[in-house]
Amino acid sequence: MAQLYFYYSAMNAGKSTSLLQSSYNYNERGMRTLIFTAEIDTRFGKGKISSRIGLSADAFLFSQQTDIGELIRNENKQETVHCVLVDECQFLTKEQVKQLCKVTDYDDIPVLCYGLRTDFRGELFSGSQYLLAWADKLVELKTICHCGRKASRALRFDNKGVVMCDGDQVDIGGNEKYVSVCRKHYTDAINEVKGKRKDSM
Ligand SMILES: [Zn+2]
Repeated sequence: MAQLYFYYSAMNAGKSTSLLQSSYNYNERGMRTLIFTAEIDTRFGKGKISSRIGLSADAFLFSQQTDIGELIRNENKQETVHCVLVDECQFLTKEQVKQLCKVTDYDDIPVLCYGLRTDFRGELFSGSQYLLAWADKLVELKTICHCGRKASRALRFDNKGVVMCDGDQVDIGGNEKYVSVCRKHYTDAINEVKGKRKDSM
């Protein structure tokens, strides 16, 4: 039976590299993969996933309106799909995560989702919320803070280099920069900005 996987991490943990490597492994054995990425993410141009180590692949784009289940079934009818890989899966809606569950269970196609668990405020993204709830396998891709601890949070900096405590979850077209840190250094940075004592979180 196929399974639904959620590979989650903080920023810059090599998610795209891991996704592209998995897809490559399928292709190498003559198996077909479908890759999706969020329309929102245009860092590398529309419909393309690139990793920092130089791999890249074309991808279907999804927006909140995309019927991903329908799209996968149509492709599967034309030519068998052996695996579906979704980058930036934190941007999936609840409905789209349901669609991916159905693809896994009724079309028997493994689905591998890669994305962030939480935003810069430490809040779950919608896609991550339902993947954490419904995926068969949860796999954490680890990256480390400057102190050596596991990084589980993302600090967001505005274009003046100041840590942001608030704002929209997604800043489309913004110049923001993210740095992955551990929970302690996240709290320290936020409290420093707010001028509060460390025990007041
Ligand atoms: Zn740290």
